[in-house]
Amino acid sequence: MIKADLAIVGIAELATPEGLAARSGPDLGRLKIVENAAVAAREGTIVFVGTERDFRQTVEVEPGGRTVDAAGGTVLPGFVDAHTHLAFAGWRESEFDERLRGATYSEIAARGGGILSTVASTRAASREVLSDLVRERFNAMLGLGTTTTEVKSGYGLSVDDELKQLDAVRLAAEGHPMTVVTTFLGAHTVPAEHRESRADYLDALVGEMIPRVAEAKLARYADAFVDAHAFGLDEARRVLTTALDHGLGVRLHADQLADDGAASLAAELGAASADHLEYASDAGLEAMARAGTCGVLLPAATFFLMMERRPPGRRLVDAGLPVAVATDFNPGSCPNESMTAALWFACLWGGLTVDEAITGATLNAAHSLGMAAETGSLEPGKRADLTVHAVPNRYHLVYRFGVPRVRTVVAGGNVVVDDGQLL
Ligand SMILES: [Zn+2]
Repeated sequence: MIKADLAIVGIAELATPEGLAARSGPDLGRLKIVENAAVAAREGTIVFVGTERDFRQTVEVEPGGRTVDAAGGTVLPGFVDAHTHLAFAGWRESEFDERLRGATYSEIAARGGGILSTVASTRAASREVLSDLVRERFNAMLGLGTTTTEVKSGYGLSVDDELKQLDAVRLAAEGHPMTVVTTFLGAHTVPAEHRESRADYLDALVGEMIPRVAEAKLARYADAFVDAHAFGLDEARRVLTTALDHGLGVRLHADQLADDGAASLAAELGAASADHLEYASDAGLEAMARAGTCGVLLPAATFFLMMERRPPGRRLVDAGLPVAVATDFNPGSCPNESMTAALWFACLWGGLTVDEAITGATLNAAHSLGMAAETGSLEPGKRADLTVHAVPNRYHLVYRFGVPRVRTVVAGGNVVVDDGQLL
């Protein structure tokens, strides 16, 4: 008999991608589906996935172990959010209202709004205050079924403030059930005090910030925002090459508002991911496919910015990319931390099927964070990160859009959300 200390039974449908690496092309939407299923784990690791009938014959829940009834719900791997800016202080709802009244993003940015207003409030917050905000957001995300999240810096934009932001994330993650991967995004935008001296800011990025972040092991990746209002291709190449030299992996904010050639740069650098990609060229996407760089779709941000372009979901799939789906959770362009919401937009507006979007929000996202061997699918040997949704099958997650229906969340083999309530 297989010994377990946690079992989930009463599952109407279990749906999971399989494998230790990202899926693409026709494999993207190839899920393992088990009806009348059960899952079991021991010491945080999955030991059984199969039918409840096989479970009864082969698994023994040890005394003191726990059995959870999914009550006819659907089980998926815990969501992996591969792109967030959640370590911020201060929301920007007044700018949102201005935008609805016709103001443009550049007008708002020109008078110190936009990213720079979040930089001001994040700089003003202490490490402890920021850490509490981050922990609250981890809690909210767990309640929505996310068990692993990436978090970027990029609202400090000075040596001390970037280190403070990353340290606040490290502090919040300590002892928290959320699995956290951090990314240094000092190349988010040029801070106000360096508008007339951007070369000095770039020198600080490569000469001081990246070495110190790498030495303190405060981030696994570095990211750069390639955009007319942020950094040019050569600047981003310099920053990210330095990051690679210091042992960090790289990701990119690429071709969101125009074709800046950033998808090709991501391929050239062997980036783990290039994200957004609304305006990426065919050549850029082809280069990414050859390099194995993940394309991260951020469809809720495309929606919230009221962009004319749709999220390029179908294009990325057809280009043969390993496609991931993430939230882009941040106070300006996507104040929404729900991966289920990202799935709605990925499918209804970005052209993915439900099954493709599920792989994108789990296994492929984990792969883009270098975590596919540990999480992102429900298979023996992987960490027991899973969600029970109160729907009879996976289609209902998108079909009945607008309402998250998470009932139970298991992170690292511990039940952390039960009956919709965070424990
Ligand atoms: Zn972003």
